[in-house]
Amino acid sequence: MDDLLRIDDRLDGDQRLIRDTVKSFVDDRILPYVGDWFEEAVFPARELAPVLGELGLLGMHLSGYGCAGTDATSYGVACRELEAGDSGLRSFVSVQGSLAMFPIWKYGSEEQKSEWLPQMAAGQAIGCFGLTEPDHGSDPSGMRTYAKKDGSDWILNGAKMWITNGSIADVAVVWAQTDEGIRGFVVPTTTPGFSAPEIHKKLSLRASVTSSLYFDDVRLPGSAVLPEVVGLRGPLSCLSEARFGILWGVVGAARACLEAAVSYAQSRVQFGKPIGGFQLTQEKIAWMYVGLAQASLTALHLGSLKDAGVLRPQQVSFGKLANVRAALDIAREARSVLGGNGITLEYPVIRHMTNLESVLTYEGTQEIHLLTLGKALTGLDAFR
Ligand code: FAD
Repeated sequence: MDDLLRIDDRLDGDQRLIRDTVKSFVDDRILPYVGDWFEEAVFPARELAPVLGELGLLGMHLSGYGCAGTDATSYGVACRELEAGDSGLRSFVSVQGSLAMFPIWKYGSEEQKSEWLPQMAAGQAIGCFGLTEPDHGSDPSGMRTYAKKDGSDWILNGAKMWITNGSIADVAVVWAQTDEGIRGFVVPTTTPGFSAPEIHKKLSLRASVTSSLYFDDVRLPGSAVLPEVVGLRGPLSCLSEARFGILWGVVGAARACLEAAVSYAQSRVQFGKPIGGFQLTQEKIAWMYVGLAQASLTALHLGSLKDAGVLRPQQVSFGKLANVRAALDIAREARSVLGGNGITLEYPVIRHMTNLESVLTYEGTQEIHLLTLGKALTGLDAFR
């Protein structure tokens, strides 16, 4: 499909190299198989993680400890190409890099960093991020998971829900209430009292492992706490990192849907001509491209702000809200262009479409980002 606006001309040489490398990895190692993974509800994380590590994609925008240390736009471009494969693949990389490695890198002790970051960057250890609880999703401030001091140790009790990579993780970054406020804990998943059953029957993000986490008197040494942060700003700063990956990633999912729709419309003949030759189909395709190009430009702009070190959480909310919405609209429209074929896994569209329903919800629902923008624009808080 023609890149009409030549938006990628604004990428520099390194960013284009990363784009092309990730795209060919996705073309070779993901696209031929992901329909089956989705159908069977599996994600071969142990096989893929070392390859992703080798490509430098795990914690790629972090520096030191075996991380690639790229700029933010490069990280965004990589997320875009990964999610053109599947949102589950991008989720794996986002959770590993932005939700599990980032808090250790940013708020961890030297000991925590040198123990975990090199093996996580190499894909030898898998991480997860436990914030959401069964009764506390959009409002994590009410979380009930509690870590109590016992001498120099901590005793952790509680439960988390909807945790990506939970049952395959080697280490969980868990956020819990303490007598001092919310703290983060680095929890090896072999610690007695920790369990992580997988959540089944999902009809979205099926090629991604989602789990509950349970902590039953999990005893942790004093050194397990992230020393450099107290309060909700810890997990919220991680979410801002991961949302940046999402606002880029969904552009890839949307592009894959539009490409599938264009190619189908060019070859599917009804009433004696390709359906792409009908004005009603062209209207759909033109609007899909407008949405895609606007989302791409938003991602590029926010990437420049992040690279300049001035990106604000409200701006990330704008990108997450606008780009996920655009991607979901494109996926739904593309599905209609494919007619009956739009509902099978022989084509990527319905897979992206149902995945994007999760992406709309996680890392702050559409409503939460609307409220964030509303507050930024009016100065009035409508959250409560
Ligand atoms: P709720 O908070 O109960 O919201 C239900 C509805 O009410 C939503 O539409 C919401 O927008 C709306 N709502 C809530 N408050 C308001 C308000 N003030 N005004 C208007 N409407 C409101 N969490 C993690 O910690 N780690 C993970 O790795 C992770 N991975 C996930 C993977 C998947 C596939 C999914 C589906 C979720 C994942 N999550 C994860 C959890 C995700 O972040 C939460 O589902 C999300 O924050 C919403 O919480 P909830 O599901 O409890 O919905």
